[in-house]
Amino acid sequence: MAKQEDIFKNVISHAKEYGYIFPSSEIYDGLSAVYDYAQNGVELKKNIREYWWKAMVQMHENIVGIDASIFMHPTTWKASGHVDAFNDPLIDNKDSKKRYRADVLIEDYCEKLWQKAQKEIEKAKNRFGDAFDEAQFVATNPRVVEYLSKKKEILERMVRGLDTGDLADVKALIEELGIADPETGSKNWTDVRQFNLMFGTKLGASADTAMDLYLRPETAQGIFVNFLNVQKTGRMKIPFGIAQTGKAFRNEIVARQFIFRMREFEQMEMQFFVKPGEEMQYYDYWKNTRLKWHLSLGLGNENYRFHDHEKLAHYANAATDIEFNFPFGFKELEGIHSRTDFDLKAHEQHSGKKLQFFDNETNASYVPYVVETSVGLDRLFLAVFSKALQEETLEDGSTRTVLKLPAVLAPTKAAVLPLVKKDGLPEVAREIIEELKWDFNVAYDEKDAVGRRYRRQDALGTPFCITVDHQTLEDKTVTIRHRDTMKQDRVSISELRNIINEEVSMRNWLQKMK
Ligand code: ATP
Repeated sequence: MAKQEDIFKNVISHAKEYGYIFPSSEIYDGLSAVYDYAQNGVELKKNIREYWWKAMVQMHENIVGIDASIFMHPTTWKASGHVDAFNDPLIDNKDSKKRYRADVLIEDYCEKLWQKAQKEIEKAKNRFGDAFDEAQFVATNPRVVEYLSKKKEILERMVRGLDTGDLADVKALIEELGIADPETGSKNWTDVRQFNLMFGTKLGASADTAMDLYLRPETAQGIFVNFLNVQKTGRMKIPFGIAQTGKAFRNEIVARQFIFRMREFEQMEMQFFVKPGEEMQYYDYWKNTRLKWHLSLGLGNENYRFHDHEKLAHYANAATDIEFNFPFGFKELEGIHSRTDFDLKAHEQHSGKKLQFFDNETNASYVPYVVETSVGLDRLFLAVFSKALQEETLEDGSTRTVLKLPAVLAPTKAAVLPLVKKDGLPEVAREIIEELKWDFNVAYDEKDAVGRRYRRQDALGTPFCITVDHQTLEDKTVTIRHRDTMKQDRVSISELRNIINEEVSMRNWLQKMK
């Protein structure tokens, strides 16, 4: 089996070679942790965004969307706590000069302990078969107990250090655990320091009147400051949600994982406003609902897991991540947070405006609590793309590279291929495209032997290839080849639209979540 690193390298090079993702300003050697979406990437990204938007906004009567600006009044970020607390603890290795997040080094160490425990569990599962009681084994097996309690102890100590500002103890923890620079093995560390992740900029023409602004580090605050506008103009009743997709910017300390961690990225967030005291019920609802959405993409249920936070952010009373098994292991894909009334209250205090909901039943106003779901569009792209990319060995021993994107998300739904470039076949192929293009993105391809064209479309992730041959001229039938099974069916041209629609329509995919 290919090594994780090789798989990841493959993902990056395939994304470039097939027009999905390019390094930003590449002719100037690129810009660290900034990427451009290419001709196919932009379509995949748009489809993921649309699938999310429909599932959240169109499918929920009580959720509406907005599109707030990236620039916001600077007091927003004072109120939200970002000016004072949007920090990551950084640590440098004195020998390699490489910079790391101290919390990530410790969490990675804990992940290894978790993996060791999992190995023991797997071994026992195989040994005991059906009689295996996992819960009992986890509670009593001395090795598993030791791994998991050590993990818990370490994380608790880290959280204590970060919460109380005892960064010396965070460094001591790294040293005691013998954590080394993952790239060089050196254990020669600097002290741990806090680093604010917000990008600053200026608004205004002259230096003395210019106003200091930030590029938003999350989209959520655009929703909070518009809470009352939306509630009043939309006549929304609690519980209701506001959804938004858009760019966010963070001056990340370490950004070496392709589009997993970028300095400019896109978030898809939804803030759900609820009655205080009811937040846990909606927190559970959104945990389940969001997981179902991810699973509907069919990338393998075993590739998702929840990770409940040990360290709660300053605004949260419960938080979990949906983690995904990326080519470099399980990492956060989406966050689900119960944010209490922290944000609305803070904006009330800083703006002097009431941000409350008037409850007709009790005749009283209150500041709603908020449950949010927040997913990175680029991380989702990476999750989908990396799991879809597969090398297959075929029956005849040859191999093919295939990008098994969920058909609903594929940039191009079908390629139409004339078997040869003569005898009127290209003209018929063009007619088919002319008919299908009103509903789907379709491509025309006449270069090379048809087998090579199939391989090219497999690598691009196109779910269907439609081949026009001489029989087509006689009976108006074509072959339609399915990307994943490579099965070919002879069908009438008039059936194509329905066959494709059945597999790619968002309606069918959304209904899987019912
Ligand atoms: P991490 O712990 O990985 O830094 P976070 O907990 O800071 O992430 P949130 O603030 O909860 O992330 O942001 C919500 C979502 O936005 C994340 O789940 C992730 O999918 C996405 N995201 C956050 N930072 C980045 C980034 N630098 N690049 C790409 N996506 C990001």
